[in-house]
Amino acid sequence: MADPPRHLLAIEGLQPPPITALLDLAESYVLLNRSGQTARDLLRGRTLINLFFEDSTRTRTSFELAGKRLGADVINMAVASSSVNKGETLLDTAATLNAMHCDLLVVRHNQSGAPNLLAQKVDAAVINAGDGTHEHPTQALLDALTIRRRTGRIAGLVVAICGDIVHSRVARSNIHLLTTLGARVRVVGPPTLIPAAIERLGVAVFHDMAEGLAGADVVMMLRLQRERMIGGLVPSAREYFRFWGLDAAKLAKAAPAAIVMHPGPMNRGIEIDSLVADDPARSVIREQVEMGVAVRMAVLDTLARARPKLRND
Ligand code: ASP
Repeated sequence: MADPPRHLLAIEGLQPPPITALLDLAESYVLLNRSGQTARDLLRGRTLINLFFEDSTRTRTSFELAGKRLGADVINMAVASSSVNKGETLLDTAATLNAMHCDLLVVRHNQSGAPNLLAQKVDAAVINAGDGTHEHPTQALLDALTIRRRTGRIAGLVVAICGDIVHSRVARSNIHLLTTLGARVRVVGPPTLIPAAIERLGVAVFHDMAEGLAGADVVMMLRLQRERMIGGLVPSAREYFRFWGLDAAKLAKAAPAAIVMHPGPMNRGIEIDSLVADDPARSVIREQVEMGVAVRMAVLDTLARARPKLRND
């Protein structure tokens, strides 16, 4: 049997069995969380450091809660006011973290590949919490768990991922995960926001919402990531909403029971209409947040089990 993975840096390259195992374990954590119980013995004595070089509310809080519910000592390193601003390199940061005997390191960075580099230098298990435009593996896992719980399966579903694909690590991780588990993935958006040759990842490309959404079981909207855009890739926000924003009329093209997802934070009135985002019959956006905690508990648990404890207190 293959060795358990040391880190979670990307979905690309994972086979169905470890993905399904994480989803199954997360399922048990959904039940635990809903019961109000915790499992504080599991990570007792382990240190989890949240190292976020980019802003985050949802993901950081979710990892913090996940670590605490499993009994870890959770530290949030405030990078904005830390030594990184004094010019310390990523590798110096790694040496510092090793000296602190950190067991689990959750990293978000605006450069693709930064968590990978850290993983080569730190003793801790590294979890990528989003790197540049590369990957956001726990987001894809929580999305898959949400879809599986709502529809009962992933294989064979038609999933339309819409909007700013080119800047989206969420899209990339989801494409890898959903195609690996047998979903039929479409990417839908203007040509300026769809990477060249993305078909090689096994997706179908659509430049029209009505066509891209036709019969889809899952409609996943993405945030327009203006902070990553160089130059004007989109017209005005109003124009964008008119052609690419999800409203009731566009959603009517999807399958009658199609669910609506968004990783957050949402730009209401730009990529999604509030009436759709807040429609409890279609939107699973809040459930995604709930699944996020359970999935992160499963990831922390799995990675911690696969490695010896660094300290005994
Ligand atoms: N929260 C997600 C991310 O960090 C999606 C987004 O920011 O639009 O990638």
